[in-house]
Amino acid sequence: MQIIDVIKKIKRLIIKGLIIEYLCRLTQQVVLINMAENTSTNEEKRLEALKSYNILDTDTEKDFDDLTALAAAICETPISLISFVDLDRQWFKSHHGLDARQTDRCHSFCSHAIQDPEQLMQVEDAQRDIRFQDNPLVTGSPDIRFYAGMPLLDEDGYALGSLCVIDQKPKILSEAQQKALKIVARQVIDKLLLRRNNRKLMIANNDLTESNRKLKAAEESLRNAVSDLRESKDKIQNILDIVGEGISITDSEGLITYTNGRNQEIFQMDEQSMLGLSITAPVWHNRKPDGSRLRCDEHPVTLALKTGKPVLDFVILIIDQNGHPKYLRMNAMPIKDGSGKVDGAIGSFADITESYLLQERLKESENSLKSAISSANLGTWQMNIDSAVLEASGRMKELYGFCPDEPMSFEAAVAQIPESHRQEVIAIMNASNTKDERYEFEYPVTGYHDKKLRWLRTTVQTFKNPGDTAVSYLSGTIADITERKLDEQRRTDFIGMVSHELRNPLTAINLYIQLLSRSAKSIGDTVLEDKISKIDSQVQRMESLINGFLDVARMGEGKIQLEKSKFDIADLIRMAQEECQATINSHRVNFEPLELMHVEADRSKVEQVLTNFINNAVKYSPANTDIKVTCHQKDGHVHIYVQDNGMGIPAKDQPYIFDRFYRVESDEMKNKKGFGMGLYICKEIIERHNGHIGVSSTEGDGSTFWFTLPISQ
Ligand code: ADP
Repeated sequence: MQIIDVIKKIKRLIIKGLIIEYLCRLTQQVVLINMAENTSTNEEKRLEALKSYNILDTDTEKDFDDLTALAAAICETPISLISFVDLDRQWFKSHHGLDARQTDRCHSFCSHAIQDPEQLMQVEDAQRDIRFQDNPLVTGSPDIRFYAGMPLLDEDGYALGSLCVIDQKPKILSEAQQKALKIVARQVIDKLLLRRNNRKLMIANNDLTESNRKLKAAEESLRNAVSDLRESKDKIQNILDIVGEGISITDSEGLITYTNGRNQEIFQMDEQSMLGLSITAPVWHNRKPDGSRLRCDEHPVTLALKTGKPVLDFVILIIDQNGHPKYLRMNAMPIKDGSGKVDGAIGSFADITESYLLQERLKESENSLKSAISSANLGTWQMNIDSAVLEASGRMKELYGFCPDEPMSFEAAVAQIPESHRQEVIAIMNASNTKDERYEFEYPVTGYHDKKLRWLRTTVQTFKNPGDTAVSYLSGTIADITERKLDEQRRTDFIGMVSHELRNPLTAINLYIQLLSRSAKSIGDTVLEDKISKIDSQVQRMESLINGFLDVARMGEGKIQLEKSKFDIADLIRMAQEECQATINSHRVNFEPLELMHVEADRSKVEQVLTNFINNAVKYSPANTDIKVTCHQKDGHVHIYVQDNGMGIPAKDQPYIFDRFYRVESDEMKNKKGFGMGLYICKEIIERHNGHIGVSSTEGDGSTFWFTLPISQ
């Protein structure tokens, strides 16, 4: 304070003007230095506090302007200011009655007022106040005379500025005005605080809005991600649904967290019921294929979860929720997280019930086939068509005269067949390479070591590799039919010999019958004539039987001769019709209208076939039933059918019905006489004409015998 007084004295002595100004500044500097000395940290904090309100250089606000207007009205002054004291200026937030928005701090009355923050500072007449009499605001515009300022003290005790009223004439405030001014000053502070809080609130609000916006954006991207996820889940689900296999996904405990539609079909359980169930739960009745219990720790999913390794092609037996047992082929794959830890598994299930059971049945029938083959003492063989390598069983080698453990090639086997039959066998084998059919043929072989003649019956079955159209390999059985063949031969020889021996006496009997018949006619003995005619028909029957036997014998020797000529088959059938009308009264034999069809064949032998068919139809069907004979042409062949409504032929007998001496054995057949030669002869005749012969029949429901002959061009 001493320095200030000295300067003030000097000031009075020095002329006014710039020096005063300079001094004023000096005063201010000194005040500041003084203050700085005492309260420099305080001032810094005050300025910091002021800044925290963010009030400086803001626009005027009505709330503050109302308060200055109020203060001016209360104190009856033209000017009222809300002034904040900044580092080197005072700035007016509200300036009622004054245009200026700020002045230098060195001229500021408020700087003085805030020195004593609790007190209202009054300057009755600035011209008389040594502190202000030279102040340009006193000496010039706005010609301050009276000043009263109440410091604006914030919550922390910092005087930020003041609410002041100013007049251009000297004045003193009444007690009530002073009190009111203090109240208004508190209002200013409240407003300021409110404003700061509002601002904080606004910032917080902005932050909140921003966070909200970010949250919304995050929500939006989450929603998009969820919908993308749902979409890809749907896609995966669709894929999983069309793969045709049941798919279950489990967590690390083996509890089902996902199941596709096919899986629900396999287990006959809906999705909701399946989710959360253990893959080893008793509800699935998990079994091994042999029906024994599948322990939980043996289940593929348990193993995959435990070992982290896939378990593939495991067959299990389950019982679905409708009580149906099902064989399933399943794979279990472990699911690993980023660190390689197993945290679930995928189980896939394919319903293989049908193929599994088929395979089992196949195994069974393979076994029974094997035992049948071994009990029938059959040889078996298999041959790859590309390599022509023959794999023959020991028994087959024996039948060809080789030792059972000795190699036997296809060529070596063929070499054992006598030349008379070799080409025929090779032709059948070649045909089976290309045609997907079952073949069966008989031929003799001369044993490789023992040179013994054996007759063999070989079956050929063709096989294709999956996906191939051509036959890949052949396999079959070989049976020793030597005994049967020799038997047949003996029988044929015997029949041939007997028939020959019987024919000569029969020729003589025929001659005597003709002589007797002529004599009976000449003497007019009709009774004798009738008896002779009956003898004649019995002799005819016997003759046709003997001829049949001879045919069979000739066929066995390959001696049957065809006398071919070109004739109209319709003509032949018409004659058969006339014959039937004359001789058959027991049945109605109907002939369908015929068209002209020429064939080149042995007419009497073709007639023999047709007559045999018609006679059999009569023989093996009840009296008064219909027999239908039809004939038409197709694919360059004449097709002739004889259809009856008789006893029919059991399916098991049909393949052998054209074999020599074969007859169906049944109760019904006991009183049907015959030798089983007719159809055998028919087959030989038709096949020698390059035609085909066959039957379609249902036991108890009648038969249709048919044959075809090539049409003559
Ligand atoms: P056979 O009639 O003398 O016995 P076949 O060779 O003509 O000799 O016939 C062989 C066997 O075929 C007969 O024994 C019979 O069992 C059966 N058969 C032939 N034709 C018929 C038919 N139309 N209906 C039922 N079975 C038939």
